Amino acid sequence: MALEDWYQNKLPGDWHTHNQLCHHAVGTIEDYVKSAIERNLNTIGVSDHFPFEFLKNIDRIPIQDYAITLNEVDTYLATTENLRKKYMDKIKIRIGFEIDFFKNQEYSLNQHLNKVKNKLDYILGSIHVLNFKNGKGAWGFDDSRFRKDYKHYGADRVFINYYKTIQKMLSSTDFDFDIVSHFDLPKKFNDFPLDEENVNNEAIKALEIIKKKGFVMEINTGGLRKKCKEQYPSEKIIREMYDMDIPVLLGSDAHDPRDIAWQFKTTIEMLKEIGYNQLVHFNKRSKFYMEI
Ligand SMILES: [Zn+2]
Ligand SMILES: [Zn+2]
Repeated sequence: MALEDWYQNKLPGDWHTHNQLCHHAVGTIEDYVKSAIERNLNTIGVSDHFPFEFLKNIDRIPIQDYAITLNEVDTYLATTENLRKKYMDKIKIRIGFEIDFFKNQEYSLNQHLNKVKNKLDYILGSIHVLNFKNGKGAWGFDDSRFRKDYKHYGADRVFINYYKTIQKMLSSTDFDFDIVSHFDLPKKFNDFPLDEENVNNEAIKALEIIKKKGFVMEINTGGLRKKCKEQYPSEKIIREMYDMDIPVLLGSDAHDPRDIAWQFKTTIEMLKEIGYNQLVHFNKRSKFYMEI
């Protein structure tokens, strides 16, 4: 069978998966790979959270359960590389990281990232932590332990601050990544802004930079398992993206092997209905397009 047919006879890749090395997911990397094979995916992207230890001004963040530690990075990469060879005939395994953007901290990030960058197929750029001027300090807005902070600032300020931080991430010349993860994550607990127009304008500004700089957007089905009960981003935003010709791929944000390819079939139907007929595939930081 030609390689192209091999891909077409399977479900498209799941590019956003975690494992027990990040201390808040269950299962080994191999458990996720096996789950992806059982679900007949053509590709699994292993993308655990890049370490946090070197970051400054995150005193309130319980980093021990946010990410892999620096001394586990080599194990993570070696294990994934071994699995890539072991399961070569059954599934394509791609190696990546989900990396949090912290403004003005790209230099220390790159000191660690540059050592392993040549091993990576792709990088997800994410924001899970925000810091408000005159606030109590950096906090995890999608972490249930920080719900008090979320309520204190209110959805309008959270969404605006979040999209402005995304714009900084997209414009940073030192933050190197390929894919924007869970674009409207502040809706996770079903909070929505009152000033929809203002928030939407900031989201559109971010989409414009994504388009201009050639980034890929993740359609993250993890949101369907959360209180908001919809994928990130919303269908409304996906329609804007389609009109702007922004390329997409799928991620389940699996933190349990059973989450792999979560509602991919219905999500692909939605994407097709909107007009998308291709998904992006990464290999060694280069993009390819696959028909759906
Ligand atoms: Zn996680
Ligand atoms: Zn994430």
